Amino acid sequence: MTKEKQYLIPTSVNEAIVFARQNLGSFRYLAGGTDVMVNRHQGNEESPCLIDLSKLSELKGIKKEEHFLRIGALEILEELKLNKNISEEFPMLIEAALSVGSPLIRKAATLGGNVLCENRCLFYNQSEWWREAVGYCLKCDGDICIATQGKNACFSELVSDTAPALIAMDAEIEVVDIDGNQRIKLEDIYTGDGVTPRNLSETAILTAIFLPLNRGFKTDFHKLRERESLEFTSLTSAVAIDSTGKLKIALAGVDPKPVVVEGTITDDKTALIKQAVKGSRAVDNDMYSRKYRREMISVYLNRSFDKLLS
Ligand SMILES: Cc1cc2nc3c(=O)[nH]c(=O)nc-3n(C[C@H](O)[C@H](O)[C@H](O)COP(=O)(O)OP(=O)(O)OC[C@H]3O[C@@H](n4cnc5c(N)ncnc54)[C@H](O)[C@@H]3O)c2cc1C
Repeated sequence: MTKEKQYLIPTSVNEAIVFARQNLGSFRYLAGGTDVMVNRHQGNEESPCLIDLSKLSELKGIKKEEHFLRIGALEILEELKLNKNISEEFPMLIEAALSVGSPLIRKAATLGGNVLCENRCLFYNQSEWWREAVGYCLKCDGDICIATQGKNACFSELVSDTAPALIAMDAEIEVVDIDGNQRIKLEDIYTGDGVTPRNLSETAILTAIFLPLNRGFKTDFHKLRERESLEFTSLTSAVAIDSTGKLKIALAGVDPKPVVVEGTITDDKTALIKQAVKGSRAVDNDMYSRKYRREMISVYLNRSFDKLLS
């Protein structure tokens, strides 16, 4: 029997988790809805119950804490630029946020939803009849990866643009679940498996993102896409160097998870770039070829090093 459709609007995180527990296996949290609703339209997301997080005050606000800037998960991408703490210490986050979708999408899209948006693949983000015609794929009831013509692993890509920017600047997140809170490094939630790209439990709620204060980050951000507006990434590259000389590279769009390389400014740059390219399991599931995107990793990282280290 098809489950009845429900739209629930909790007013606290605890209530949201209670609703989630009552609908295990058949609900989806909704923040700005710009990812979820499109996936529902394409038949890739069919949960009968939607739990709207928009009334949760615990997920809102941007404030300085002792060593971190706390950004609520429901903060709107288009509005991050209005916050002085972000614009002064973490301008790369604003650049990344403003590279997402279009102005209209960014006015609804949240930062939490962006780091948790669904992985994408040219062969998966298609209409139901298209996917049925090709016999589905690992990510939607099929048994092979169509992009690789038969591999038993899913290479749908992480397409979040803010995730690499946040990770390069050592962001942490707070997650609340049935058994309490945990604070983890953002990169640790990504699994590398395109079918289940994150290791968070179904009921977990991302409440906030934390950026470390007073690190003196120098940063550089690039996004490869066919059009300057309204385009998912084919490669997002973020580099941050702090005042101690610690260097961190984070890439999206070339692997099911962020590709992260850490070093210092005294390390051999060619070796760091090689490590980033080697860590990227890009396949031909994008508008740009795998070869071109891997070449562009070197191009972008060389540009970043020229800018930040000269
Ligand atoms: C035309 C178009 C272009 C786009 N271009 C880009 C782009 O260039 N770059 C890009 O990164 N994205 C892009 N997107 C995808 C999407 O708009 C963004 O990723 C957006 O930031 C998602 O945020 P949201 O608040 O709308 O998330 P939602 O759609 O509400 O949620 C996304 C996912 O996160 C989960 N979720 C959301 N918030 C929480 C929370 N607090 N706790 C637990 N789970 C949560 C939801 O259950 C869902 O699985 C585009 C979308 C469209 C339609």
